[in-house]
Amino acid sequence: MLNTRVLKPADSAHSTPLLIKNLLLSGVRYERSQEIVYRDISRYDYATFNQRICRLAGALTAAGVKPGDTVAVMDWDSHRYLECMFAVPMIGAVLHTINIRLSPEQILYTMNHAEDIFVLVNSEFVPIYKAIEAHLTTVTNTILLTDGDDKTADLPGLVGEYEQLLAAQEPSYEFADFDENSVATTFYTTGTTGNPKGVYFTHRQLVLHTLTQAGMMGGLDSVRSFGNRDVYMPITPMFHVHAWGIPYTATLLGTKQVYPGRYEPELLVDLIKKEKVTFSHCVPTILQMVLHAKGAEDFDFGGMKVIIGGSALNRSLYEAAKSKNMHLSAAYGMSETCPLISAGYVNLELEAGSEDERATYRIKAGVPVPMVQARIMAADGSFLPQDGKSQGELVLRAPWLTQAYYREPEKSQELWEHGWMHTGDVATIDEMGFIEIRDRIKDVIKTGGEWISSLELEDLISTCAAVKEVAVVGVPDPQWDERPFALIVAKDGHEMSAKALRDHLKKYVDEGRINKWAVPTQIAVVTEIPKTSVGKLDKKKIRGEIAQWQEAQAPFLSTL
Ligand code: AMP
Repeated sequence: MLNTRVLKPADSAHSTPLLIKNLLLSGVRYERSQEIVYRDISRYDYATFNQRICRLAGALTAAGVKPGDTVAVMDWDSHRYLECMFAVPMIGAVLHTINIRLSPEQILYTMNHAEDIFVLVNSEFVPIYKAIEAHLTTVTNTILLTDGDDKTADLPGLVGEYEQLLAAQEPSYEFADFDENSVATTFYTTGTTGNPKGVYFTHRQLVLHTLTQAGMMGGLDSVRSFGNRDVYMPITPMFHVHAWGIPYTATLLGTKQVYPGRYEPELLVDLIKKEKVTFSHCVPTILQMVLHAKGAEDFDFGGMKVIIGGSALNRSLYEAAKSKNMHLSAAYGMSETCPLISAGYVNLELEAGSEDERATYRIKAGVPVPMVQARIMAADGSFLPQDGKSQGELVLRAPWLTQAYYREPEKSQELWEHGWMHTGDVATIDEMGFIEIRDRIKDVIKTGGEWISSLELEDLISTCAAVKEVAVVGVPDPQWDERPFALIVAKDGHEMSAKALRDHLKKYVDEGRINKWAVPTQIAVVTEIPKTSVGKLDKKKIRGEIAQWQEAQAPFLSTL
C-alpha cells in the first residue's frame, strides 16, 4: 500500500454514502411532471412516482421486511418493478429479480439459493408460484401484483394486493443512511450448463454504474443516445441485469419512461408510436421481432436510438434498422458486470473516414467506458498485446463487477483468477481501444487445427439476401474434429440451400476473410431458432437438436 496522505475529517463532517436513494433525488427535481407510463393502463408523474416509492417502503416495512432480507419480484417490465428497484434496496433489503423465463425447477432453485423471504407475484405467475410453493424453504410472505379488478388470489402467505397496500401508507418515508457496501440487488445468470449462479451488486456499485452510464450516454458526442428529453422504453427484461441498469439512469435524469409489461411485438410498436419513444435497448433477436411486427413494416422510426447488447450486432440487422431510420449502436456486458463494460464510439479518426468504416466500428463491442480496465489474457495468465490481432480471453476490472458468485467459493475463485474477472469470451483489443468479441470460448469452432469464430460466420451469412436469421455451431466430425453447421431461417419467399450458402461465402473466402474450412457443408433450413430465457441464440440446445436431426436424416437438412 502506498503511504498516501489521508486526512481526518472534522468531527461534525458528514460523509455521504453512495446509496440508491440518492439517485432518486435529481429526476424529480428537474422534471416533476415528467411521466412514468405502463402499457395503456396507467401513467403518473415523477412527483407521484417518488410518493409511491415511499408508500411501498412503508408497506414493506409494515409487512415485516427488515434490512438484509431478500425481497423477490416475479413480474414483467412494469412501473411496479421500477418502484421495487428503488424501495427495496432503499430500506436496506436486497432485491432479487427472478428470471421468470427459467424452468419452474430453476426458479425454485434460485429462490431457495437466494434465501428469498418476501415475494411480489404478478397474477400471471400465481400458478407457477403455487406449483413450487411447497418446496420453498425460506419464503414467509407474498404480495399480489395485478392489473385486473380482482385484488385477491389464493397465494400462500398473502399480505395483500400491491395497490391497496400502497394506498394505506403515507406518501413520505424517512430513508436512513447505511453502509454503501450493503448488497442492493441479486439475480441469477442464465448459464446453460449446471445450476444458475447468483451475482450481486452493492449500492456503491449501482450508483457508480449509473453515474458512468449517464455520463457516457449523454456526454460522448458521437454516440449521444440518451438525455432527459428522450423517451425511454426498455425491451430488455428487468430481471436481466436490472434492464441493463438503464431505469436507474433514466430516473436520475428525470426522463419519461414507458414500461411495456409482457412483450407483445405489436404493442411494443404501438407504444413506440403513441408515446414517441426515442431510446431503447435489447438483444438482436428481440429487435428482429420488433422490426418484423405488425405496424412496423412501413414505419419510419424517426431517428430512434437503440443500444444492442447481449449478443453480437451483425451488419445486416444494423442496415435493416437504418433503412427504417433507427440508429443502432453496440454495447458489451454480462450478468457479472452490472452490466456496462464497453459501448460503440466514433472517434475523430473514424469520423474522418467513410460511413462504411464507421458502421464496422459501431457494430463492434465498443470501447471500455470510464473506470473499466480491459485486457486480453492468454491461458497462462500473461497479457497479450492490444494490436487488434492477438486473441485471448477478455478479462476485466471495474468498480461494479460482482465480487463473487453467491455461496459458490470455487466458481468465484475461477471467475477472479489472477485478480481479473474472466468473461469466458475470446476477444481482441485494437490500438484505438476497440474490443471485438470473437466468440464465447465454448462456442469457437475447432476444425482441422483452425479456430473459427461462429460470430463472424453468422455476421457474413446474415448479409445473404435470402437469410432472415442464422446461428452457427460446431458439430462433431470424425475427420476434422468439428465442422461448422448453420441453422437458417429464410426470408419469406426465399429458399436456401448449402450450395447457395457456399456461393454466398465464396467472396469472403477469396478475399481471405475466412478460410475455406469455415464454409458449412451442411445446413438446416428451419422456421425458428431456439433462444435462451433472455432471447439469445441457445447454442447448447441447437447442438442437441442438430445431433437428433442428423441421426434421423431430417428432410430440411441441405448438404453440399
Ligand atoms: P449474459 O450474462 O447472459 O448477459 O451474457 C453475457 C455474454 O453475452 C457475454 O459474455 C458475451 O458472450 C455476450 N455478449 C454481450 N454483449 C455482446 C456483444 N456486444 N457482442 C458479442 N457478444 C456479446
